Amino acid sequence: MNNFSYSQPKTIENAAGSSGRFIAGGTTLVDLMKLGVETPSALVDVNSLPLAQVETLPNGGLLIGAMVRNSDLANHSIILKKYPVLSQALLSGASPQLRNMATTGGNLLQRTRCPYFRDTAYTACNKRNPGSGCAAMEGHNRMMAILGTSNSCIATHPSDMCVALTALDAVIHVEGAAGARRTIAIGEFYKLPGDTPNIENALQPGELITHVELPPQTGNKQVYLKLRDRASYEFALASAAVVAKVENGHVRSVRIVMGGVGTKPWRSHEAEAAMTGKAASPANFHIAAEAALKGAKPHSENAFKVELARRCVARALKMATA
Ligand code: SF4
Repeated sequence: MNNFSYSQPKTIENAAGSSGRFIAGGTTLVDLMKLGVETPSALVDVNSLPLAQVETLPNGGLLIGAMVRNSDLANHSIILKKYPVLSQALLSGASPQLRNMATTGGNLLQRTRCPYFRDTAYTACNKRNPGSGCAAMEGHNRMMAILGTSNSCIATHPSDMCVALTALDAVIHVEGAAGARRTIAIGEFYKLPGDTPNIENALQPGELITHVELPPQTGNKQVYLKLRDRASYEFALASAAVVAKVENGHVRSVRIVMGGVGTKPWRSHEAEAAMTGKAASPANFHIAAEAALKGAKPHSENAFKVELARRCVARALKMATA
């Protein structure tokens, strides 16, 4: 591991705008530093910042501090009551020990589990080393993405939490140098890999995630369904978050987001359009699931994900509208 400087600012003002890498729970960054994938020259420890609260907003929404631990968020009474899809997603991820350390802000910045990205013995990785190629294209790609891929990168976005946050239309609050604050809708936060898979999100240098805002959710039914190789401590092969409003057996509104299959949390407006105003019936779930996977591009080892994700979406819709 390379030498690095370390600082622990006590205020957001002193942390935001820093040129160092922010570190919170360390559940991604420390691993990647040990592997030599990340080599920051300065670490800015944000664990002392006053960002560990969950506050109710006047409009009925929620403001979640970036330092709220995943386990605290999953078990928060308001999350359990009004945003159960988020609790389900959080509890399906990692292990209890990791959830006790991992933070809301850190989870938003979780990096891919592509084995070629994490192993510096492989030189070809456009995400780690722009312009070097992509070892996964012709290599082991069973876990890779089938939606949102490019000729440069097919790495899957790993987070469960972010799939649920996308289904909840979350808004990310950030602060940069000199108190410059802005908000980013989660749908705009993650970048498709395109020709620059090393650029993963809309953050500018020095911008610190301070909060995640959840809009009020009234009358919604919510489900997070995750399919994986084993029942715990495993990443999704396919997952689906569904937030639906159902009246008289018909879907009045719905948000459908997939995990484990996209290069970012994958919201399917096509599937939502296919379900909106329609009867909550198996036939319509099937049509919506077909629409959700319409643009899928599998590689040599992951064609099974197309059908698996279809069934995941259809089953999540059935559960959410039951
Ligand atoms: Fe790197 Fe992306 Fe290719 Fe994996 S899929 S080797 S992260 S460029």
